[in-house]
Amino acid sequence: MKKGILVVVSGFSGSGKGTIMKRLMSKYGENYSLSVSATTRAPRPGEVHGVDYFYLTTEEFERMIEQDQLIEYAKYVTNYYGTPKAYVEEQLNAGRNVILEIEMQGAIKVKKKYPETILLFVTAPSAGEVKKRLIGRNTESMEVIDARMQRAYEESYGLDDYDYLVINDDLEDCVECVNSIIMGERMEDTEKNAGCRVSANIDFINNIREELLSFSKGV
Ligand code: ADP
Ligand code: 5GP
Repeated sequence: MKKGILVVVSGFSGSGKGTIMKRLMSKYGENYSLSVSATTRAPRPGEVHGVDYFYLTTEEFERMIEQDQLIEYAKYVTNYYGTPKAYVEEQLNAGRNVILEIEMQGAIKVKKKYPETILLFVTAPSAGEVKKRLIGRNTESMEVIDARMQRAYEESYGLDDYDYLVINDDLEDCVECVNSIIMGERMEDTEKNAGCRVSANIDFINNIREELLSFSKGV
């Protein structure tokens, strides 16, 4: 059987990755298996253990590292996040396309281990909109939001390692675009989404980096 393809979805915090993944799974769930990560951060209201994340203590997380149960892990701002290995390998071997919604350091590690991985980066249309969505979500303190905006600025320098850039302006359009990119890759028809390649969006990236710089200085 043909193995499934592995897709990493990263993006600035607040760009809408979680929202896109939920909608993608409710619309096209038959196409994908979504990996559930382990983390040491506390659950947000409404988040469920085993659905949104496996919420672990630092000791439990470090035990998974020692026992080589994670494909990758990273420290993002102040917490550990990692991808459990067993589920991903089992799903790929069963021919399923697997999505990892993870940050940039982890994405690079996954690409090294599985060179065929497709890397996709999600952004809101502007840095102002990223901050507005983070504030609107009402789940983080202003201090954490500022740290995440600073991290977004740093991440804007890592976009060259990604294959596709997806701008999450209208949610439904964005979900269609993500599905089309992944299905295009699966069918080895990559021409139709050439406009979403990172290399086709260099001006946008330079612009948002400038905006993120002014936000990370506290504008
Ligand atoms: P992330 O997972 O990237 O940190 P979330 O999915 O939590 O981001 O989204 C951040 C906030 O932005 C949420 O309040 C969500 O409802 C909102 N949001 C997501 N997509 C859009 C969109 N296309 N337009 C407007 N708001 C959005
Ligand atoms: P949040 O706390 O907002 O849910 O996630 C913070 C960041 O951690 C996001 O960029 C998210 O994509 C990333 N993340 C979630 N799970 C993993 C994982 O398993 N590994 C890595 N490296 N990053 C993850």
